[in-house]
Amino acid sequence: MAEKVVIIGSGPAGWTASIYAARANLRPLVFEGSGVNDTVPLGQLNLTTEVENFPGWPAVDAAVLASFIKSALPEERYGNVSHFHSGKHAHQGRRTIFGPEIMELVRQQAVNFGTRIVTNDIEKVDFGRHPFVLYPRGEAPIEAQSVIVATGAKANYLGLPSEDRYKNNGVSACAVCDGALPRFRNRPIVVIGGGDSAVEEGTYLTKFGSVVYLVHRRNELRASKIMAQRALTNSKITMKWNRTLDEVLGNDDRGVTGVRLKSTVDGSTEELEASGVFLAIGHTPNTAFLDGQLKLNEKGYIQWTKPFRTNTSVEGVFAAGDVGDDYYKQAVTAAGSGCMSALDAERWLAEKGFH
Ligand code: NAP
Repeated sequence: MAEKVVIIGSGPAGWTASIYAARANLRPLVFEGSGVNDTVPLGQLNLTTEVENFPGWPAVDAAVLASFIKSALPEERYGNVSHFHSGKHAHQGRRTIFGPEIMELVRQQAVNFGTRIVTNDIEKVDFGRHPFVLYPRGEAPIEAQSVIVATGAKANYLGLPSEDRYKNNGVSACAVCDGALPRFRNRPIVVIGGGDSAVEEGTYLTKFGSVVYLVHRRNELRASKIMAQRALTNSKITMKWNRTLDEVLGNDDRGVTGVRLKSTVDGSTEELEASGVFLAIGHTPNTAFLDGQLKLNEKGYIQWTKPFRTNTSVEGVFAAGDVGDDYYKQAVTAAGSGCMSALDAERWLAEKGFH
């Protein structure tokens, strides 16, 4: 029998959609991603540190946060975040919630209301027939009356051959994943970009590197005022304005040993010694698996076809979160549109007599 609603993706949009769909007795089935082929289970928040702007999560004592999270999660899921609370990387004092913690909590909230979860990716869809058909990797196809696409976006790279050559050997797009590696300790680190991600990653990396060079192609940060101020006043961050990454320098033995930067003003170049390069130059929506079956906007994001609704170009398919948002791209707006998509799907199913 066809599923009433299948949700693809497991960031704030996917889980919020599933909380609402589960509470509407739709028994949602979530494909949370496998982590293979660049999918990021629990979304981009799972790759960040402190989340200071999600409503309802002010800074609290770390021990209180730990006991709250421990009480909310089953043991096997608590294991994914326990290193924040105990061991040598444990955080003391007051802090806000970390991205991975908030994602484990919202996932659990969805489970508590009866969401079913498959830890796999949807590789292909057929929206040309109804019920829709979804193809999970290596598993039997699934039929669905309605689908919510909440697959988010993934970090961009510049596409330099040298960048590719040193991926996992000094080149990364995730400071939280890789920043603590021994190779970055007490050595210079380069971050490319001028948005909130670049500032956040740069600030985080100052915990490990001797200096963080923040390389931005203009002379003004795109990051929000509070984040920009944090970077500009951090004594361990050195701004490299009006420059782009021309080449990652290194060798097969040591991986990244430095970078060559190019001035966007006069084309001159300079070389810096560095143990690593972190790219924070924006994101690309995860839509390849749709194979052109939903209309995308000119930037490649799924097009919402009705104002203030999450409808897409295919009736019965809805989109939520960053995969359809080239403008706000915040955790709370992703969660909000996840809620909208579940309500839209529920009303559409009722209207069509499927629910
Ligand atoms: P973003 O805001 O799109 O910034 C991307 C940065 O990379 C920009 O500074 C851009 O330069 C630069 N860039 C893009 N392509 C480049 C290239 N080819 N070469 C060199 N530089 C390049 O992306 P983001 O920082 O990932 O943020 C995405 C969204 O998430 C934003 O809405 C942001 O507010 C949000 N976010 C929020 C937080 C937070 O609140 N804590 C943290 C992270 C992200 P230009 O400025 O010249 O365009």
